[in-house]
Amino acid sequence: MSKRDKSYSRHHLLPTSRGWANVSKNIEVIPDINHRAIHQLFANKMIAQQLITTLDISSKALRPDVKEWLLEVLNSKDILDPYEWYKEEVIR
Ligand SMILES: [Zn+2]
Repeated sequence: MSKRDKSYSRHHLLPTSRGWANVSKNIEVIPDINHRAIHQLFANKMIAQQLITTLDISSKALRPDVKEWLLEVLNSKDILDPYEWYKEEVIR
């Protein structure tokens, strides 16, 4: 499949279902297949919550030191504070 055969759609980086704005800085145009996969796996979760889900899914395969590092990062920040995780230009 060539790139021009793909269908694309608009994905909100910060979920509008959680009150974030439907504005261009918060929208990424991505292939439909990726968009469906994101929402199938992560629903409308914020990035840190997506990482927790990924950690859960991949826990058996992850190296213990990598798992520990990721948990340290996740535990060192407020998982729902977008300023801890997203680029400022996406939030403001
Ligand atoms: Zn989306």
